[in-house]
Amino acid sequence: MRITVIGTGYLGVTHAACMAELGFEVMGLDVDVEKVAALADGRVPFYEPGLQELMREQIAAGRLSFTSDYAELAAWAGDGAVHFVSVGTPQKKGEYAADMTYVDAAFDSIARAIAHQGRSLVVGKSTVPVGTAARIADRLAELAPNAEVAWNPEFLREGYAVQDTLHPDRLVIGVRSEQAEADLRHLYAQLLAEKVPLVVTDFSTAELVKVSANSFLAVKISFINAMAEVCEAAGADVMQLSQALSYDPRIGGRFLVPGLGFGGGCLPKDIRAFMARAGELGVDQALAFLKEVDAINMRRRARTVDLAREQCDGSLLGKRVAVWGAAFKPESDDIRDSPALNVAASIHLQGAQVTVYDPKATDNARKMFPTLSYADTAMEAAEQADVILHLTEWKEFRELDPAVVGGQVRSTRIIDGRNALDAAAWRAAGWTYRALGRP
Ligand code: NAD
Repeated sequence: MRITVIGTGYLGVTHAACMAELGFEVMGLDVDVEKVAALADGRVPFYEPGLQELMREQIAAGRLSFTSDYAELAAWAGDGAVHFVSVGTPQKKGEYAADMTYVDAAFDSIARAIAHQGRSLVVGKSTVPVGTAARIADRLAELAPNAEVAWNPEFLREGYAVQDTLHPDRLVIGVRSEQAEADLRHLYAQLLAEKVPLVVTDFSTAELVKVSANSFLAVKISFINAMAEVCEAAGADVMQLSQALSYDPRIGGRFLVPGLGFGGGCLPKDIRAFMARAGELGVDQALAFLKEVDAINMRRRARTVDLAREQCDGSLLGKRVAVWGAAFKPESDDIRDSPALNVAASIHLQGAQVTVYDPKATDNARKMFPTLSYADTAMEAAEQADVILHLTEWKEFRELDPAVVGGQVRSTRIIDGRNALDAAAWRAAGWTYRALGRP
């Protein structure tokens, strides 16, 4: 059984390399020819720990290759193949709904390429509005009658993508036949042998598991950030509050860290697309709370900008602001809907000179925000700064010595947008340390 992976972005490359690691022959396909050339050359065009090494091993072992040609892919895969589709589902411009153009185009292309082949399984991995798999199954029945559709949503986290793919918390498959289930059980046999829980369900439930999981995580983050807002008004400490809550096993401490909130290419657009779909299904009231979850999240960005202005004596005009972090989270160079860059850009618009440093995401940030300044190190960014903003919680920022950084800046003022620095150590070194939700 050969495997193909269509759409080799963050999700697709990881999935392709991990399926090769599990012993399968895999071919990845992308319409971006430059990306394909880099991948074929063993270069992952983004930062994901461990992925580059894994990919090179699998290419060298002859189990992993790449193309941008659907006909070549189909001929190579042959009958009985499993084709995964992991193209993007971004938010539509000016709307909450997901843009399904890429998914529809990818399924159409693979269907046409395998139209005259024997049986095969085409498995959606992209995060999609509920109802997509059924719609696509109807389309494939016309275009490629021997192909069957399944849906296998992905839960990997950027920064842990390889580990999450090879050791997932669970596997969810939406299928309409025993054969499709058997094919996927065969593909994931090693993981199932390691007792990874498997949920076999229908299309709609499989699609909904993904968006409801992301909604729940967003709720948890916005819940603690709402508590941070109240703490700010009441003079309480949200970090202590969060710690105390976390001892209750029914609540738990994970995803309960207050700060600048969530961003990235998934959570924000997924909860919005979920709301849009609920509206189409006539149950928009059921998800009305997600609107507030989104609003709480966005208010944290605005609050961070306000805090920076407060720290600069009421005006950002002409001030030098150092921003530590550009990626939407540490261990990634992904800047899609990055809270850090959103704050940096807002501060820049208020007349400050903003210098950004990120261990991995500076190049991506420079392309998207060319008017900001960029530094090669955290210390260089801090040079003559009136205030430092710590906005992505990379480990290297926690390891900096506040006394040494103090020798670099104009004013020893720092805002910890992630509640991740050692507040006592920074204060002891003479800094004015401010954080979201804390006195
Ligand atoms: P991405 O933008 O990094 O990758 C998508 C890739 O698809 C791009 O390389 C693009 O060129 C390619 N593509 C677009 N149209 C194509 C077509 N017709 N044929 C072949 N390739 C095509 O996106 P991503 O972050 O990998 O996300 C992909 C999907 O997976 C999304 O639905 C996302 O919500 C979901 N997802 C992502 C993650 C994550 O952490 N990134 C985790 C779980 C689920």
